[in-house]
Amino acid sequence: MLEARDLIKSYGRTRALTGASLHVEEGEIVAITGPSGSGKSTLLHCLAGIVRPESGEVLLDGRRIDTLDEPDLTRLRRESFGVVFQFGGLVPELTAAENVALPLLFNRHGRQESMTVAADWLARLEVSGCADQRSADLSGGQVQRVALARALATGPRVVFADEPTGALDSIGGEQVMKALVETARARRATVVLVTHDNRVAAYADREIALRDGAVLTGVGR
Ligand code: ADP
Ligand code: ADP
Repeated sequence: MLEARDLIKSYGRTRALTGASLHVEEGEIVAITGPSGSGKSTLLHCLAGIVRPESGEVLLDGRRIDTLDEPDLTRLRRESFGVVFQFGGLVPELTAAENVALPLLFNRHGRQESMTVAADWLARLEVSGCADQRSADLSGGQVQRVALARALATGPRVVFADEPTGALDSIGGEQVMKALVETARARRATVVLVTHDNRVAAYADREIALRDGAVLTGVGR
């Protein structure tokens, strides 16, 4: 369903991806693992259409998405992808509920409906209590729960998550991973997550190990 072929991406002299390839099936939950600096975030960003690779291909349902123009890519991301950024990526001056409602508004849902759906997702992730707080005032753990609520609220086909539990303690991390996995299974959504935490990777159907910007063979496929 989602495929990367020989992705190469450099930042100045740093080669973040050196020929990364992978294939993710519809409904699969995969964890991209590897040491810090091995290219995990860059690979996730290429798959999610946030970073364009220098060479190689990213395909969704067999169609290239790395060559789409900006408006088409933006539309695809809004309609089909949910992204949890490493540090949340919430709009700081908006409340938690407004942050979750925002992508729904972009997808042309009404304000009332968007706020109702947002409240529901905040409840599922057990952060209803901070719905009306500005996201700049939230704790790291609250930010991650709100960011996950925002990514799931639009019902995306693919959820991309970069260290979704990094700011949570182990109980909080378990709750967030359970919510992510249960939601994905219920909707047959595909999940690609990046983690260096084995306990998080254990929730995935399959682990894809990166070293020096490429997938370790024999572990991924
Ligand atoms: P991790 O190793 O957990 O992925 P990093 O600290 O490497 O975290 O990266 C955090 C963010 O900073 C990412 O969005 C990454 O793209 C960016 N980043 C990493 N290294 C650099 C760098 N040398 N210069 C600018 N941005 C960077
Ligand atoms: P990981 O997520 O595995 O830590 P990253 O994809 O964040 O790996 O980074 C891979 C390499 O690319 C690292 O050496 C990092 O410093 C570098 N890098 C990542 N993002 C940037 C950026 N925006 N600017 C400069 N260097 C970057």
